[in-house]
Amino acid sequence: MVISNVCCIGAGYVGGPTCSVIALKCPNIKVTVVDKSADRIAQWNSDKLPIYEPGLDEVVKKCRNVNLFFSTDIEQAIKESDLIFISVNTPTKTFGNGKGRAADLKYVESAARMIAEIAQSNKIVVEKSTVPVKAAESIMQILKANQKHNVRYDILSNPEFLAEGTAINDLLYADRILIGGEDTTDGHKAVEKLGWIYQHWIPKENIITTNTWSSELSKLAANAFLAQRISSINSLSAVCESTGADVSEVAKAIGLDSRIGSKFLQASVGFGGSCFQKDILNLVYICEGLNLPEVAAYWQQVIDMNEYQKTRFSQNIIECLFNTVSDKRISILGFAFKKNTGDTRETPAITVCKTLLEEGAQLDIYDPKVEPEQIIDDLTHPFVTESPECVKKSVQIHNDPYSAVQGTHAIVVCTEWDEFVDLDFNRIYQSMMKPSYIFDGRKILDHVKLENIGFHVQTIGKRLQK
Ligand code: NAD
Repeated sequence: MVISNVCCIGAGYVGGPTCSVIALKCPNIKVTVVDKSADRIAQWNSDKLPIYEPGLDEVVKKCRNVNLFFSTDIEQAIKESDLIFISVNTPTKTFGNGKGRAADLKYVESAARMIAEIAQSNKIVVEKSTVPVKAAESIMQILKANQKHNVRYDILSNPEFLAEGTAINDLLYADRILIGGEDTTDGHKAVEKLGWIYQHWIPKENIITTNTWSSELSKLAANAFLAQRISSINSLSAVCESTGADVSEVAKAIGLDSRIGSKFLQASVGFGGSCFQKDILNLVYICEGLNLPEVAAYWQQVIDMNEYQKTRFSQNIIECLFNTVSDKRISILGFAFKKNTGDTRETPAITVCKTLLEEGAQLDIYDPKVEPEQIIDDLTHPFVTESPECVKKSVQIHNDPYSAVQGTHAIVVCTEWDEFVDLDFNRIYQSMMKPSYIFDGRKILDHVKLENIGFHVQTIGKRLQK
């Protein structure tokens, strides 16, 4: 066997699902996922996993304590592994009076320092976290400068392309696996070893290898391209609303061009999640460092357009509700950044809720997977002056959509949960204030049906009836 023992530092949205699938598909490899958070590890070892992903429970139940282990014993896991994934968070840091933003690699650095302290045998260290181009060079410097034993390190870049909400499916049927390594005999051997793991279930032709820097840049580029498509269609949604064109029709018309394709052309309140904005900011920072200001400005625009879309949508709600939402109750359906996840990082719902709260609205929020404490936490942090108690006075969190809409003036759909499509809108209409508004930020509802019931419907990319 080429590799018999693998560990992953970081038991998050990437480390957990990725290692669960490796354990499932490689029964002869011992896979240990470690984290510095004892709470997180306890959850991975419990019946209620720390993250929600369709299909994840089944995979974990099948492999846990067979060849998949979740542990806080980082030292032991590093010692016994041949290959170590670094899958820690790489948040955005701000600097220069808040003007500059870039990836904070402090957790990657601390993982590298731990490996150097502990390793007593040769290790393949794999960047699974999304990192800036040339991060492998810094990791190697840290490993070499801190090593306690005379061991050999090979560093590989193996970015993760899974999407939250479909992570297990994405891992099982990955479009491609990308492995970047050094163009040396040892580098090629390390790439082959990691490739061998994936070949347990991914066709060989879907495993592509590049040099380390191409691999690191490809991950940032992939997210930048995906986000760019969303910002592009969202920019057109504003044109549609002012002209009478319908963004859904435009998206269909252009998407049928095989050079363009139909995916990621869904106009919406904006993109969210922990990755798109962070990775583009990273790209912008790299371009600025390379003295490429025009390229930096080009990608920055993708983020600016997303901010504009979130703000524009929120302002439209206020304008439609007779230019005031003060003391009006508004229900927010969906708080997660997308369906099938409980993740709220960078969710557009935060901007929408924050704008409405600042204008004095009372919010009734329902999301099937986001914990109430998380919502309060998210809505508290953007306000420097507001305490959780203040936010709690204006926000009620419900565990049922029908109670969340009772007596409200408007419904705002922030997440495209399937269950919202099947709600009994006749019943909902009866229970709301009149006139009753629906702002469909995800374009998932049957607008004609809703208008026939009596709702005033506003959506993205269709002329607004103010
Ligand atoms: P996460 O915050 O869910 O998990 C990271 C985990 O690493 C945390 O549990 C944290 O406690 C742990 N950690 C940090 N430093 C540690 C250390 N020194 N020792 C042990 N544990 C440590 O993050 P995530 O969403 O899994 O993302 C991880 C990386 O993968 C990021 O770089 C992200 O950009 C990238 N990525 C994320 C996604 C996604 O959809 N979430 C997709 C592709 C790539």
